[in-house]
Amino acid sequence: MSRYIYEDWDDEFIPKYKSKKKKTVKKSSHKHEYEEIIGEVPHSYGEGFYYILAKECRICGKREVVNWFLSVKVEGKPYHRLFPSLDEVIDMYPNLRIVRMEL
Ligand SMILES: [Zn+2]
Repeated sequence: MSRYIYEDWDDEFIPKYKSKKKKTVKKSSHKHEYEEIIGEVPHSYGEGFYYILAKECRICGKREVVNWFLSVKVEGKPYHRLFPSLDEVIDMYPNLRIVRMEL
């Protein structure tokens, strides 16, 4: 008789426990670990590329744009110019990887 009662308890509580556990275990979720990269983006017309500042998650590869409009100081002038060349981008961000991005 006592065994019978135990089985009732088992049926009622184990499934609840299991479903609760399932909710808390999310294997695919992680905190994105972003590192900054330079995105090399093909011009939509003509040839060549322009460069943007982006970030990429080390774990899943998710990318986000940080700055669409990089600019470079114009020597001897009080303003900046958009669309720096690859050399200028490397001068500004010597430690970042350059990654081809299709946007
Ligand atoms: Zn991620």
